[in-house]
Amino acid sequence: MGLPEAREARLPGAREAPLPGRLLAADPARLPFVEVDVLVVGSGVAGLSTALALPPDRSVLLATKGTLGEGATRYAQGGIAAVTPAGRAPDDSAGSHLDDTLAAGAGLCDPVAVRVLVEEADAAVAHLRRLGVRFDQEGAGLLARTLEGGHSRPRILHAGGDATGAEIERALVAAARDAGVRVAEHAFLVDLVTGADGAVGGAVLAEGGALSLVRAGAVVLASGGAGQLWTDTTNPALSTGDGLAAALRRWLSAWPLPAPTISGSTPAPCRPSGWSGASRPSSPAAGRPGSSRPGTRSRCRRPPTT
Ligand SMILES: Cc1cc2nc3c(=O)[nH]c(=O)nc-3n(C[C@H](O)[C@H](O)[C@H](O)COP(=O)(O)OP(=O)(O)OC[C@H]3O[C@@H](n4cnc5c(N)ncnc54)[C@H](O)[C@@H]3O)c2cc1C
Repeated sequence: MGLPEAREARLPGAREAPLPGRLLAADPARLPFVEVDVLVVGSGVAGLSTALALPPDRSVLLATKGTLGEGATRYAQGGIAAVTPAGRAPDDSAGSHLDDTLAAGAGLCDPVAVRVLVEEADAAVAHLRRLGVRFDQEGAGLLARTLEGGHSRPRILHAGGDATGAEIERALVAAARDAGVRVAEHAFLVDLVTGADGAVGGAVLAEGGALSLVRAGAVVLASGGAGQLWTDTTNPALSTGDGLAAALRRWLSAWPLPAPTISGSTPAPCRPSGWSGASRPSSPAAGRPGSSRPGTRSRCRRPPTT
């Protein structure tokens, strides 16, 4: 099938040593392969949401290195900050949520991204509810909300008290099973594979000690964070940054790496190539370098290649 080897790349500025494009020496063109329209890597809230949002006429494979639903998502506790009519303090607004977030970010936030976050929060919560997430409720059918640090109004929605992530994971796993999403568990993303034009055309997976190639029109990296790079972390053992590392080797959207957070979600700098649906993944996505969500400031940088 002949996917050519990618060029080596250099880190911008700080490093001069060329990075190998692949972790393994195995030639992807010689591996057994399957073909799908979209390969989603990771089965936390980002991966499951992405797989569920894809049009039904697309063939999808959701690959995850553990079991379905195993990830940081199930550990998320306090909840989701969202200004929504389903549970809103009377004097709250998306503008107030924006101001609070930028203030708490102390200059580290991308205001354009934060605006998307706060303005689309209501729709995102409604979508999760449609998928079966049961948020805690209070009188008159409204969603219960609480106050957390950095917020000037009580706007944190939660489920099962402080088991919000576990409830989201439960509902999304059930929805994925109901929708018949094709899943490969214990399938470890090793390398991304690029085509002649430099765009990602698939990935090498390791399953049960055997390597295989998935050829895909789009690859979505929803492989979570890298908390395990630090001595002290609340992240689970699988948050080892494998997807970011694979993207880094291929020089895609994972640069610059987002700063680690105690309990924040990872920003989504790029869209996968060929993505045409209305929904988007909420984790780093692999696609054509330089692609980005229309209307937002691109944070994707294509570093110089050698
Ligand atoms: C203790 C704790 C409390 C938190 N509390 C909150 C909170 O109150 N509110 C909030 O908004 N956020 C909270 N967070 C953060 C939130 O949980 C994460 O931001 C969110 O779950 C990330 O989802 P994700 O889908 O991107 O990643 P994950 O849920 O980590 O999923 C990553 C997936 O990728 C898979 N994967 C990784 N590498 C590979 C590979 N090489 N090959 C194949 N698959 C791979 C993993 O197996 C996993 O399925 C908390 C996090 C922790 C740890």
